Amino acid sequence: QIILGIETSCDETAAAVIKNGTEILSNVISSQIESHKRFGGVVPEIASRMHVEQITLVIEEALLQADVTYKDIDAVAVTEGPGLVGALLIGVNAAKAVAFAHGIPLVGVHHIAGHIYANRLIQEMKFPALSLVVSGGHTELILLKEHGSFKVIGETRDDAAGEAYDKVARTLNFPYPGGPHIDRLAHEGKPSINLPRAWLNGSYDFSFSGLKSSVINTLHNAEQRGETIEPADLAASFQASVIEVLVTKTLKAAEDFNVKQVMLAGGVAANKGLRAALTEAFTAVPDIELVIPPLSLCTDNAAMIGAAGSILFEKGKRSDLALNGNPGLDIENL
Ligand code: ATP
Ligand code: MG
Ligand code: FE
Repeated sequence: QIILGIETSCDETAAAVIKNGTEILSNVISSQIESHKRFGGVVPEIASRMHVEQITLVIEEALLQADVTYKDIDAVAVTEGPGLVGALLIGVNAAKAVAFAHGIPLVGVHHIAGHIYANRLIQEMKFPALSLVVSGGHTELILLKEHGSFKVIGETRDDAAGEAYDKVARTLNFPYPGGPHIDRLAHEGKPSINLPRAWLNGSYDFSFSGLKSSVINTLHNAEQRGETIEPADLAASFQASVIEVLVTKTLKAAEDFNVKQVMLAGGVAANKGLRAALTEAFTAVPDIELVIPPLSLCTDNAAMIGAAGSILFEKGKRSDLALNGNPGLDIENL
């Protein structure tokens, strides 16, 4: 089974060819980061326009690298949401055009289901499974009873983890996206500054806006007193707070729900500190398998959309040509 995956939900124009849901034949990504950098974040109009310019080239390149033609493709899987509506529409319309022109079935995919299924490109899933999704727009603990079934057991009540990283990075004058800069800086400092951890009474929910404000206040207060704060120490302290809460809640949920596997997902899964801390925590629980995708499959890509689309296609999901971009798509009611 050969799936063509297409992803345009934010600022990456991506297409990939996936064999049997687990094997990457090609994975092409055209990133727009350079075009958005000077605005300090993703500008939706620019994103849409650049997707239009890139999408055909990216799809053709993915087919070329995989050494397949449209005749070999069993289904086209495309991100239908959530994301920027104008950006989603470009991928959805390209997928519809391909499906219609070549008579290929079309499958709409939830972007976060895609992030989770990046793990299946590394390791077969074992159910029940738990996924910690940490991305630019989401921070969620999602339980999978079987393939294609998602239950959100905890989520952020305010900022997403990636959003908090990007805002803290901006305060420290790093360009967008700031997550990788904070990650690197954190390793040069000590977590010596006391910052809050939002435990929320043992719930599986998260909150990062208090932590973010606390970082900003710490900087401003020091400035007003004419003191200097070592940015590396502040980054290390911020990262320590984020990681401690993420790891503790993931471990607790994994044990409470008796899962066989824990999968890390989303752009913040590229964080070195988080990867190391999760690995260490789960080494102590050998009956739960921890899966962490390689860095290239953590941030947005189309291989993950092909992987999720493959399972949905096998389960019989078909979208028709009325498929639309849906910025508020719900992962629990696919
Ligand atoms: P969503 O998937 O929720 O729709 P998105 O697609 O915009 O949001 P992703 O591409 O999955 O988000 O992830 C991007 C986020 O990951 C950014 O906030 C970025 O700063 C963050 N990020 C990437 N690498 C790292 C890192 N090493 N440490 C921390 N954050 C990181
Ligand atoms: Mg992105
Ligand atoms: Fe994403």
